[in-house]
Amino acid sequence: MDAGDGTGTGAGGGMENEAATEPMCSVCGRMPSAEEAATARLTWSRGTQGGRASWVCAQCSRDHVRSIEGKLDQSWW
Ligand SMILES: [Zn+2]
Repeated sequence: MDAGDGTGTGAGGGMENEAATEPMCSVCGRMPSAEEAATARLTWSRGTQGGRASWVCAQCSRDHVRSIEGKLDQSWW
């Protein structure tokens, strides 16, 4: 048998629908890499804007921590 590109997909397959909520920085538009994604949920700031989840990356949250804590709309930044 020539199992060329048929790599198994079953190993530890989970019900991860997290892809739909993959964080993207609403300030700089950055998206975490695959490696970063795991920590992004911890280090990024999550907020809600217009009923949608909005993420701010660690870097931007540091820059805009005051605005975020003041819950200012981003248009004021
Ligand atoms: Zn950012």
